[in-house]
Amino acid sequence: MQGVILPGKERVEIKEFDRPDPDPGQVLVQMKASGLCGSDLRAIYHEHRGSDPNERYQNVIAGHEPSGRVVAVGSGVSGFAEGDRVVVYHIAGCGHCEECRKGFMIGCHSLGRSAYGWQRDGGHADYLLAEARTLLHLPDELTYADGALVACGFGTAYQGILRAGVSGRDRVLVVGLGPVGLGVVMLAASSGAEVVGVDLVPERLELAKNAGAAHVVRGGEGAAEQVMELTGGHGTEVGMDCSGSAAGRKLCLEAARTWGRVVYLGEGGSVTFEPSPLLLHKQLTLHGSWVCGINEMGDLLEHLARKGLHPDATVTHTFSLSDTKEAYETFDGGRTGKVVILWEDT
Ligand SMILES: [Zn+2]
Ligand SMILES: [Zn+2]
Repeated sequence: MQGVILPGKERVEIKEFDRPDPDPGQVLVQMKASGLCGSDLRAIYHEHRGSDPNERYQNVIAGHEPSGRVVAVGSGVSGFAEGDRVVVYHIAGCGHCEECRKGFMIGCHSLGRSAYGWQRDGGHADYLLAEARTLLHLPDELTYADGALVACGFGTAYQGILRAGVSGRDRVLVVGLGPVGLGVVMLAASSGAEVVGVDLVPERLELAKNAGAAHVVRGGEGAAEQVMELTGGHGTEVGMDCSGSAAGRKLCLEAARTWGRVVYLGEGGSVTFEPSPLLLHKQLTLHGSWVCGINEMGDLLEHLARKGLHPDATVTHTFSLSDTKEAYETFDGGRTGKVVILWEDT
């Protein structure tokens, strides 16, 4: 089988590997869709970031947004059988610590933790060896590309929506309209909220409109004033930063309505702001939110199927595994929606 390694400095290597066999508790997944994520660009594609070997990319097969079909099952596995369509929650935690017991394997700090595409082989390959406890059933209503998007980006977006308690009473500001931001737009709009999307890139503003944003605003100078104007001078009840930029994070606070809720989802960078006028005097609640738990991911899959929502509507570019280099170059251009590797007959 073929698999993709990301050695850094924008290199993409396609190599031959033996097709693995599942050990007890594992299944072999034939890959159908494998997403590219902003964190692959940020922490792997350009340079391998992070000093902790438990967190840093270990030159394994890349890709942490896998979805596919079970083709072999190891001993002791129940609940999954050959032919099942599955989504892989992208971190296998130790299973015993407080965060793992909550289903938040992302927060596991034990040495037994490994993330697909970071410390263990991931989804940019024809087959993926997965721990059965990291699998979720992909509902029939959803495509494999939907599944790949849920495995990280939409899961992250959904957790942000839950943290802010978004409802149809809210106006929701979404800053940064990459894949996670578009996920927030779609999920917030489908909850009945009025969504205002902000980005610097015109193509991404268009994508946000298609995903359900009622208004879009070009980021930069004057963006906060425009949001205030759009909301009758009140500001937005909810602000979600998906940009990871200082300006985006600050904009969420500046444009927040008094007693509003702000969630920081975007990774990296920093921010400085004056807490008194922007946080305290506005009585704001500020959340940090990192990915989601496997239970929340299961809830999201059910929600999408019931609502007839398709995350794959935010996909703008698809590639075959042999064109993964081009996939990364395209995604790195910063003007796309979601970029996904697809296998035939998906
Ligand atoms: Zn990701
Ligand atoms: Zn753990």
